[in-house]
Amino acid sequence: MRFSHASKVKMSKDLPSENYIRVRDRKAEDGSKRDLSYPDLPEPLRVGTYDNHTHLEIADGENPMDYREHLELANQAGILGGVQVGGSVETSKWSAEIAAIEPRLVAAVALHPNVAAEYESLAELDAAIAEIAKLASQPRVRAVGETGLDYFRTEAERTFLQQHSFEEHIQIAKENNIALQIHDRDAHEDVVATLLRVGAPERTVFHCFSGDVELATILKEHGWYASFAGTVTFKKNQSLRDALALLPKELILVETDAPFLTPEPYRGRPNSPYLIPITVRKMAEVREISEDEMAEQITKNTEAVYGSWSADI
Ligand SMILES: [Zn+2]
Repeated sequence: MRFSHASKVKMSKDLPSENYIRVRDRKAEDGSKRDLSYPDLPEPLRVGTYDNHTHLEIADGENPMDYREHLELANQAGILGGVQVGGSVETSKWSAEIAAIEPRLVAAVALHPNVAAEYESLAELDAAIAEIAKLASQPRVRAVGETGLDYFRTEAERTFLQQHSFEEHIQIAKENNIALQIHDRDAHEDVVATLLRVGAPERTVFHCFSGDVELATILKEHGWYASFAGTVTFKKNQSLRDALALLPKELILVETDAPFLTPEPYRGRPNSPYLIPITVRKMAEVREISEDEMAEQITKNTEAVYGSWSADI
């Protein structure tokens, strides 16, 4: 059994308040009756790699962990570090602050498309975008994200706010010569059209890639990156695996989107960067290469997108 040597994950109950922003209490939020304990530590990767997209400001599960506990476990699993991603002014500030003091994290800052759509007016949205632009010039902020379009959760009459926000965020990434992390939910066509119209930044990443072979072909054509989350392990998502098989190896990244999108067989339980080995193993299987080769390639790609984790701290 692959995970027979898995060790039990220990969690603390008392979190220092500066080490997280919110607790996602799913039992209170939606009466979830799921197992909300953290999965066991998987067999570690032999070749270290990075989590391209995580939200460690959210403490989740029965016994929530703060970012330092996540990172300790991640190190035990062979994870070198990650990109801590903001989705609001508040979480972007937190991400930039933590990345400035924590060598295992770099930051991405942005207004999530669903956050952008909640602003009352364009003027208020622009004021928030100006805050993001200020953060984007900090040396440990290596990406603008997550920004993009989300037609799943936003009503049609409010998507103009998302569209405006997305275009402004693209400019901020270009002005600072840093990467762009795109959130694209049910909006492939408009995301691609926007990138082509406005001009994509040099390093453009589709976070939690959710497309098929058709979108993967477009990414390949333009040299855009696809970051695969735990969703690539879900049985029903053969189209994601087909897309992964088609992409050039230089454009492939891996992420957790923790605390969301926990890979199989732990779907529904809280996610954490230490679970990256499970997704990397699945990706190696799809690519028909060894997990060491897969991890090594992702590490190379990740550093090409965001730069060195050890710089500027
Ligand atoms: Zn995310």
